Amino acid sequence: MKKKFVGGCLIWILVIFLVGCGNEVVVKTNDEVIPDPIAEQPVVEESVVEQLVIEPIETEKPEEIEVVEELDYELVEPDESGEIMIVMYHNLTETNTTYSRTVESFKSDLQRLYDMGFSAVSMKDYIDGSFDIEAGRTPVVLTFDDGHRSNFNYLETEDGLEIDPDCVVGILDAFYEENPRFGRAAIFYLNAGNPFGQPKHIEKKLQYLFDHGYEIGNHAYNHEDLTKLDAEGIQRAIGKNTAHFNNLNQNLVMESLALPYGKSPQIDELKTYVINGQYEGFEYSNHTVLRVGWKPYIPVYHVDFNKSGVHRVQSGDGDMQLSWWLDEYEKNPQRRFVSDGLENRLSVPTLHLNRINVEAILDKEVFEYEPVNY
Ligand SMILES: [Zn+2]
Repeated sequence: MKKKFVGGCLIWILVIFLVGCGNEVVVKTNDEVIPDPIAEQPVVEESVVEQLVIEPIETEKPEEIEVVEELDYELVEPDESGEIMIVMYHNLTETNTTYSRTVESFKSDLQRLYDMGFSAVSMKDYIDGSFDIEAGRTPVVLTFDDGHRSNFNYLETEDGLEIDPDCVVGILDAFYEENPRFGRAAIFYLNAGNPFGQPKHIEKKLQYLFDHGYEIGNHAYNHEDLTKLDAEGIQRAIGKNTAHFNNLNQNLVMESLALPYGKSPQIDELKTYVINGQYEGFEYSNHTVLRVGWKPYIPVYHVDFNKSGVHRVQSGDGDMQLSWWLDEYEKNPQRRFVSDGLENRLSVPTLHLNRINVEAILDKEVFEYEPVNY
């Protein structure tokens, strides 16, 4: 097997999997063999070692091998090139509709995601391509459009303000308390009008979001249809909204846009303003532009990644909606992104190595391996 590594330092690591005994051996480029400390009796056929040819891919002098945490690849079968769902919710209502979910359905969505090994991650982690989740788990990004009151509602009680336990933030907080492995993350795509429906509490809500790891994203100042606007109009819709929320809370930065109605300008010279632009001297920049549907997306370092057209999975129980995709992952779990839990490594089955855009990876080693069960 040949390994390719990219990043600031060049490191070569070779791991041989001996099927059947589970022993793991790390081989340095100078042919020195370092037995895995947890393996009882590493057995390596000398002829196997000799067959391994390692060709330097850069002239840079290799540095000493770094000791990495051991991972049972046969057990975990990580694939950090696999699909990642960015789930689109709107509000919570009495009945399930195309765009809304009941409290009970939302809670059961979270439970099913958790039970199937998903962990909530932030949009920032998604764009960084780095997830602080356990080995074997799959990242999922939860998004909420339009700033409905049911996303974040304060109850005014005799003891002061309390977060409504049946609003999205209340439910996510409680779920995280019970299931810390799920993580706490969500991004709310807001318009300037009346986000979260309680104007007098908006600043307190924004600060709460920031303090608890939640994010806000841009959904245009007045939910404008961007296909109907010129360059100035698009920059006003996006830039004015960014400036508005920056005024309310400077800690929360809008760097991701959910396209209102899922519509993006069709004229090439206008598309650029969805990503970068300025309004009255206030500059904005979006690292992701989200569409409305209809399928899971891919990691940021995937060769097909397009930040201007990030797909989302709609919540719901219909075709191509969240429940449908979870059924699909039960049938075909190998489609999913599965974390190796290692901060500096990107583990990819050999047959998926062609998905990786090595230029998009800055500080991780790409590690290929042969899954037994594929
Ligand atoms: Zn919307």
